[in-house]
Amino acid sequence: MKIAVVGSGYVGLVSGSCFADFGHDVVCIDKDPAKIEALQGGRMPIYEPGLAELVHKNAAAGRLRFTTDLAAGVDGAAAVFIAVGTPARRGDGHADLSYVYGAAAEIAGHLTGDTVVVTKSTVPVGTGDEVERIIGEAGTAHTVAVVSNPEFLREGAAIGDFKRPDRIVIGAESEAARDVMREIYRPLFLNRSPIMFTGRRTAELIKYAANAFLATKITFINEMADLCEEVGADVQDVSRGIGLDNRIGAKFLHAGPGYGGSCFPKDTLALLKTAEDFGSPVRIVEAVVQVNDARKRAMGRKVIEAMAKAGIADPRGRKVALLGLTFKPNTDDMRDSPSLAIATALQDAGIEVVGYDPEGMEVAQAMMPGVAMASDTYAAAQGADAIVLVTEWDAFRALDLARLKALVATPLLVDLRNVYDPDEVRAAGFHYHSIGRP
Ligand code: NAD
Repeated sequence: MKIAVVGSGYVGLVSGSCFADFGHDVVCIDKDPAKIEALQGGRMPIYEPGLAELVHKNAAAGRLRFTTDLAAGVDGAAAVFIAVGTPARRGDGHADLSYVYGAAAEIAGHLTGDTVVVTKSTVPVGTGDEVERIIGEAGTAHTVAVVSNPEFLREGAAIGDFKRPDRIVIGAESEAARDVMREIYRPLFLNRSPIMFTGRRTAELIKYAANAFLATKITFINEMADLCEEVGADVQDVSRGIGLDNRIGAKFLHAGPGYGGSCFPKDTLALLKTAEDFGSPVRIVEAVVQVNDARKRAMGRKVIEAMAKAGIADPRGRKVALLGLTFKPNTDDMRDSPSLAIATALQDAGIEVVGYDPEGMEVAQAMMPGVAMASDTYAAAQGADAIVLVTEWDAFRALDLARLKALVATPLLVDLRNVYDPDEVRAAGFHYHSIGRP
């Protein structure tokens, strides 16, 4: 089947290459000429494990092409996926749908036959109705069905997630559209991935409900971690103790510096706005958003308090090294990363901040003014009064503590991901603070 994907970012590029790998004939479209030029030249515009190999293989087989020319890209496509960004709108926190609606209008002008237009971007309830209206208004002579197919992949594990999803959700209002979607995903239900058909609005809401629930789980354990610190309990054991209950489940129960990234912050906010607009408040999610926002900056204060306990009464002019800047390991995505708020809180206290990240530094540099980027972990630690483990990249899981001790000005490790064994780090001569552990 011929498929066009409009928007070749984390979701569009991964979806497009996976569809090509299933055997479909795919064109990935983007309006950013630098991205398309890179892809045509075999270079990846983003870091995602396994993506380069998948793109090269399918491009070489002639099943995957890249273009900035939307008209040429959608020509003859049986399905056109919209995978453009839906960031939080400045000012009010609603999802900014201008890219989705812009793409819909462009697509409408270039359809060459009956087509299913599929919204893969995360969009509020009712967006599909508006996409349908925009396409109808363009006066196309062809039959167009608008379908919602939210994406649940995780950056850093995106290809595995796309090829072995927990479920595929399709919100469609016609049997013809459902047939096209079944055909697109057929290779996956041979793998027994459940495919779920719903109404379009339901599919749109499923995506927000899923992200809000996961954000709630994280925030719940983060608050339990704070309580653990006060009462002398260990959040790792609390997490395991509740997670072994199948009704709760062990995933998303790791205490940390607060959730970030390109999805949870904006999607929880957008859900609040939808709920507000429809007069049906979601108070639990409201609390989650507030608690998480406050937490990221509080992590900066936690570092300053740890410095005070290590004998640094005035942090002004001292140096802190941040290890890991991206919002999670195995991505270069810096959007809404906790490191941003932590760095700002430290800088506001007059602290010099140095950062190191295995993949994110190029993007981070532009987003973290005044933060010096180091060439590696040990260069970052040179002369530091605190090392803060912000993101649990594998490269930070087996640090040479003796080597670090010889480099730093003050041996203090603040481990915001609970990667280390407190006794081991203390035995190496460090002051050690983690999250929710005695
Ligand atoms: P992204 O910013 O990486 O990519 C979006 C791309 O769309 C950009 O390259 C941009 O240039 C392009 N674009 C915008 N308007 C265009 C147009 N009219 N024509 C062609 N290209 C256009 O975004 P992303 O992270 O891939 O997210 C896309 C959507 O998927 C969002 O709604 C997001 O919420 C959702 N989503 C993201 C993830 C994730 O982990 N990143 C997971 C699930 C769902």
